[in-house]
Amino acid sequence: FHGNSPPHVAMLVTPGMGHLIPIAELAKRLATRHGVTSTLITFASTASSTQRAFLASLPSAVASLSLPPVDLSDLPRGAAIETLMSEECVRSIPALTKLLLDLSRAANLVAFVADLFGADSFDAAAAAGVRRKYLFFPTNLHVLTLILHLPELDVTVPGEFRHLPEPVRLPGCVAIPGPDILMPLQDKTNPCYKWMVHHGAKYREADAILVNSFDAVEPGPAKILRQPSPDRPVVYPVGPLIQADRDGGGAGSGCPCMEWLDRQPAKSVIFVSFGSGGSLPTEQMRELALGLEISGQRFLWVVRSPSDEGAVNDNYYDAESKKDPFAYLPEGFVERTKDVGLVVPSWAPQIKVLSHPATGGFLTHCGWNSVLESLVYGVPMVAWPLFAEQRQNAVMLSEGVGAAIRVSESKGREKIAAVVREVMAGEGRGAAVRAKVAELQKAAAEGLKEGGAAATALAEVVEKWTGGGGGGGN
Ligand code: UDP
Repeated sequence: FHGNSPPHVAMLVTPGMGHLIPIAELAKRLATRHGVTSTLITFASTASSTQRAFLASLPSAVASLSLPPVDLSDLPRGAAIETLMSEECVRSIPALTKLLLDLSRAANLVAFVADLFGADSFDAAAAAGVRRKYLFFPTNLHVLTLILHLPELDVTVPGEFRHLPEPVRLPGCVAIPGPDILMPLQDKTNPCYKWMVHHGAKYREADAILVNSFDAVEPGPAKILRQPSPDRPVVYPVGPLIQADRDGGGAGSGCPCMEWLDRQPAKSVIFVSFGSGGSLPTEQMRELALGLEISGQRFLWVVRSPSDEGAVNDNYYDAESKKDPFAYLPEGFVERTKDVGLVVPSWAPQIKVLSHPATGGFLTHCGWNSVLESLVYGVPMVAWPLFAEQRQNAVMLSEGVGAAIRVSESKGREKIAAVVREVMAGEGRGAAVRAKVAELQKAAAEGLKEGGAAATALAEVVEKWTGGGGGGGN
């Protein structure tokens, strides 16, 4: 019946540009390299203008559909985003089941893919008779290892992670101090903790897990997870998947920053940005401004209004900064730094900035997409993590592979200035970080070439989808 239509995959994306961008890139790669078309299924709450514009810009091989809204009004105000996403997913199962049934009538549906907070949707795939259920994990192997171990850690770790006297040691992973463990696990009385433990168990229903990472950046867990194991699905590192053709569309187009960068010397500018939703408390924003000024380095800073009134990730569902962010900068800062620095409000075309020859460093919140983009363009990092899994990422980058230097917890201006100078021009640790990042840039590019590790992993997955046989993998 579907004999002549291309293999088609349905992919459920939980809210946030950080989830949408890499899964869309996966879909594009499946289309261009393997002739597999796909439908990205988003939640109604994802309907921000930035995300709508992004979906509309995708090639025709990547369709998109939105689930109908579900009522979340019974959830407490201030519920964690992980809770909101997980609840929205569970409550969408009936609508998703219907959507998948329709899709399997209309297309040659070979697999269903859920992302990190969407594993409950496997129930919808099963109800709709979709045989193969895969998980796409947009962050890294360290975080995946932790989540897969959660059902066990839930039993063996007494009290809160942040009170543990020893760091958490997991197979192959850099030891993570308790306070740096994944943010949604930091308060066990919060429902989002139980949700994460639940996901750790639910992930095991996947036929395989595709991860947006690559061996060279986290060789320890890569070695372990590449071995098949009876107690978890097969893991395929298929990264780094970053946007290949980003032209800074949407809210970023027309950013004055590109022309400004054109006028700066090679590798002289540190790009400062905290992802699609991150913002700093007023006091830290001030110290950062003064730290950049003292550092004497050129900088390009995407400034957002401070986060003081609410959670640091208030902007997560919509990238537009709400108030005038420049009003919070120290008095006279913009004037004093106008020859070396540029501040832009809310959003910059990050990939264009990172790939620009004038960019020589990236002060980042360590969101995983930002980290991968930095590595793909060979930009050494200053790590300033905020929420989600960013503190863990900062540990693994600075203590593990050595691709970043982390700003100390006190966030004082002098310390900020010193770290910025070291990463940009330092002879000691900074030089080592710059050399390591150059090496990782090469490794990332090798893996994505025909025959490289990531390309081969994805080809194996497609073979499982299209070459007959069962769910496959484990
Ligand atoms: N991004 C961008 N311009 C900005 C901020 C973010 O283009 O001003 C893009 C960035 O390139 C990355 C994504 O948004 O692809 C942010 O994802 P990440 O995982 O780094 O952080 P999150 O937004 O999920 O916290």
